[in-house]
Amino acid sequence: MGFNDLDLSERLLIARRGTAYFAQRLAELTDEELAEPTPLTGWSRKHLVAHVGYNAAALCRLMDWAATGTPTPMYESTEQRGREIEEGSTLNAAALRNLFTHTVARLDEKWRHLPSSAWSAEVRTAQGRLVPSSETAWMRTREVWIHAVDLGNGGQFGDFPPVVLDSLFDDIVGMWRRKELGAGLVLEVEGREPVAVVPESDAAVKVSGPLASMVRWAAGRGAVGLTSGADVTPPHWL
Ligand code: ZN
Repeated sequence: MGFNDLDLSERLLIARRGTAYFAQRLAELTDEELAEPTPLTGWSRKHLVAHVGYNAAALCRLMDWAATGTPTPMYESTEQRGREIEEGSTLNAAALRNLFTHTVARLDEKWRHLPSSAWSAEVRTAQGRLVPSSETAWMRTREVWIHAVDLGNGGQFGDFPPVVLDSLFDDIVGMWRRKELGAGLVLEVEGREPVAVVPESDAAVKVSGPLASMVRWAAGRGAVGLTSGADVTPPHWL
């Protein structure tokens, strides 16, 4: 069962739990530690917190789009999105923490007040895909759980709800297939049938391990706990 097979209320609950998980990691960091780098190229923790906050604000715009029918895109452009994060990273720690709390509360309010008919209204993601507005639950879930690990102070893929790991795995492999990446790569999640990323290609490289380790590796967050293929570089995902 995937994330989108769950009832909307359960999906929103998992997104909220991820937000709480991120908020907990954030609360455990001192203001000084916020200035330290993350594994994401060129991003300090301040960039990351700004990004997670502005992502909530961008999803609020999609909820407004769904509610009113007037297109309000997540971001004006990739440049504007990047500039916003850069500027956000220069805020002081208290202001950044506020930005996070405030944007999260605003998104939650939009979710709570959206008329039920508007959950199927189509909106456009930053990548240009048309999706029902209910997809924002998954978009946010992905962001908060993965970026909680990127904060680098104790967040782990092993803490994610299993349905989130399953759907991330499907998402990532699906994206590789759409981009025609990963020929010859065979993924062996512990206790499951092996999956060839490109089914008709000759199997050349095998990566195996428990689900949480496989997803972490596939998401480009490092090889930890894999039983084989730890030296294989995963294709680019997002
Ligand atoms: Zn992100």
